[in-house]
Amino acid sequence: MLAGVAWVALYAVLMRASRNSPDAARLVGEVIYLAPIAAATALAVYAAGHTRGRVSTAWRLLIVSNSLWLIGESTWAVYSYLVPEGAPVPSFADAAYLLSYAVALPAIVIGLGLGVLGRTQGLLDALLVAAGAAAIGWQTLISPLVPTTWSAAALVTFLYPVFSVSIVSILVAVLLSGARHVPRSMIIVGTAFGLAAITDGAYAYLTAVDHYESSSWVNLGWQIEAVLLCVAAVVAGRRAESDQPRTVDPDLAFLPVVVAVLAVGGLAVADLVLVGRLSLVTLVVTMLLLLGLLVRQVVATRDRDRLTQGLRTAAITDQLTGLYNRRFFKEMVDVEADRAVRRRLPLSLVLIDLDHFKDINDTYGHSVGDAVLADVAQRLRQEVRGSDLLCRYGGEEFVCLLPATPAPAAYELAERLRQTLRGTTVTIPGVPEPVRLTASLGVATDEPGERGQIDTDALIDEADQAVYRAKALGRDRVIGSGQPSATAAGPVTDLPPALVWMADRIDRAFGDRECAAAVSRWAFRTATRLGLDEAVQRRTAAAARVHDIGRITCLATRQPDQPSDGGRPDDPGHPAQGARLLVELAARPDLAPLVAAHHERHDGTGYPYGLAGADIPVEARIIAVCDAWAVLRAGDPDPLGASPPPGRDELLAGRGTRFDPAVLDAFLALLDDGALDDPERYADSPAARPALPAPVAAGDDQRTSPR
Ligand code: GH3
Ligand code: MG
Ligand code: MG
Repeated sequence: MLAGVAWVALYAVLMRASRNSPDAARLVGEVIYLAPIAAATALAVYAAGHTRGRVSTAWRLLIVSNSLWLIGESTWAVYSYLVPEGAPVPSFADAAYLLSYAVALPAIVIGLGLGVLGRTQGLLDALLVAAGAAAIGWQTLISPLVPTTWSAAALVTFLYPVFSVSIVSILVAVLLSGARHVPRSMIIVGTAFGLAAITDGAYAYLTAVDHYESSSWVNLGWQIEAVLLCVAAVVAGRRAESDQPRTVDPDLAFLPVVVAVLAVGGLAVADLVLVGRLSLVTLVVTMLLLLGLLVRQVVATRDRDRLTQGLRTAAITDQLTGLYNRRFFKEMVDVEADRAVRRRLPLSLVLIDLDHFKDINDTYGHSVGDAVLADVAQRLRQEVRGSDLLCRYGGEEFVCLLPATPAPAAYELAERLRQTLRGTTVTIPGVPEPVRLTASLGVATDEPGERGQIDTDALIDEADQAVYRAKALGRDRVIGSGQPSATAAGPVTDLPPALVWMADRIDRAFGDRECAAAVSRWAFRTATRLGLDEAVQRRTAAAARVHDIGRITCLATRQPDQPSDGGRPDDPGHPAQGARLLVELAARPDLAPLVAAHHERHDGTGYPYGLAGADIPVEARIIAVCDAWAVLRAGDPDPLGASPPPGRDELLAGRGTRFDPAVLDAFLALLDDGALDDPERYADSPAARPALPAPVAAGDDQRTSPR
């Protein structure tokens, strides 16, 4: 850089000193003048060898361009010594100059890198800026030089400013339209050609007024250009420049507007000063620039909308699965609850928790776990309806919000999801055996009805509780929320909610979660299987739901240190107590004898009355089998997982003694069919189809029952 400055200073001194001697002036203006151009050519070779990528390509083109310039200047120098009046116009020198420019143009374009123009907006900005700059250049540099009559000489003189304006326009456009991280050497090259353009303009003016001579100060401009090209080559070579990564460039929306205003303003002023009125060129340029700005605005708005949309999507989406995230679910559940209240429609949700998912992580690693989660999400998504909102609720938990969906339909969907998961396997790369996955699902429904509100927190809590119960019952199952108003976890009963609540409390107190609900469900199915009429089926289910309600008396007398399940085997008073409660508290005398007789035995050795055979109400005989099954499988986490299930033989052992053979056979048939806890499979046998898929709700079911 210092050497360059020193050279320019020295050259200026030489020019000044040789002013009065034509020979010395010619030596300085034509021969010494060549030195920096030759140097620039040599250094371009160096730069091309020490750079990579498009920068290197640009420098190879600049070798050609600089060489052509050197050839042109040498020709000119030779002319000045051989021909007294100097080189003719056009001469071989002009051809070399123009070719040099023609090669420099792509060199600059490549060197600056037009990646930024790949974006529509960047391209538009650049075009607008270029058009504005070109319009100014046309008016100031080119239009004065448009010859009245065209000749070779006139064409050459005309082409210089055209090239200059083109180069400056491209430079301004690319640099101002957001090209960042342009190689430093290319900025210097650009500056050099910008200076050349100005110098050319000055030269054109001087030739037009016949003032140019070899010692003209204009030469200094070209000398600086050559020096700058030398500096650029050294910078490029020493920094070993290559294609640099581009950062996102700032949105310079104001630039095209500024350039457009300047261009139109400049044109208008020039018109008014030179011609006294606006020219056609000015009008056309104005129209084009306005149109360009309009298009640019449209493109920018579209880009911004896409960006906003992208951000919004990212905020409500779970990255791993692509489902909606918990935050969005929380928002939507309130929105849907409001809508459900306004339209008096039910609102359901299904909570899905994968079973033993931690094992997958522990066995195959966390990343495989992630892949499995994404896979599961995909399957679930295919099963839900368009109106349902499937979200990732937590780690391995999903939730599906079902607007306008009553409990039975919600249960059905949950069951479908469960079947889908257990029916398909996940293939893990590198693991020979496909992995089987199951899930526990909880369903909760609320109907705003007359109350006119839905407590969404309570609804989620209910679904959560239902999942918990599904886990406790052995996983891989769907459980309704057990909310007495809508989704009692048992089949059709018309029991007062308080009674159901009490039955569940007693179950819980004795550590027997879900016992009454499960017994009720199984009893209902057994009654159906036996072909009993609908009233008996319902009565069986209802009595089973509250069959242990009499145990509340042992609860009251239990000592604090007594084990929680202590009351079950030996509390002979509870059937009669239950019957009394049903009559006196719940006004259900129809259920009382059924509850009272549920510990009677087929052979007459049971309690409290020692009834035998057909003297025992059939409902009570059914409850006896189901209750015994509940006791047998208590403590077994997955009673249906093994085949035959443990406990089956013990039931069978009581055939004809403890249990009514017909009832027991019907029950075991259900068990063997796998239909005890699986409504889908149960539904395969039309003869034995229950009125409704258990274990869903009372009120709702009665209305939507196919019967
Ligand atoms: P359960 O049948 O009782 O639901 O057992 P579980 O192992 O599925 O349930 P638990 O809640 O004890 O553990 C959940 C596990 O899920 C813990 C964690 O390792 C795993 N998990 C949670 N989030 C992610 C996740 O984003 N990626 C992976 N790979 N695993 C996760
Ligand atoms: Mg979990
Ligand atoms: Mg889990």
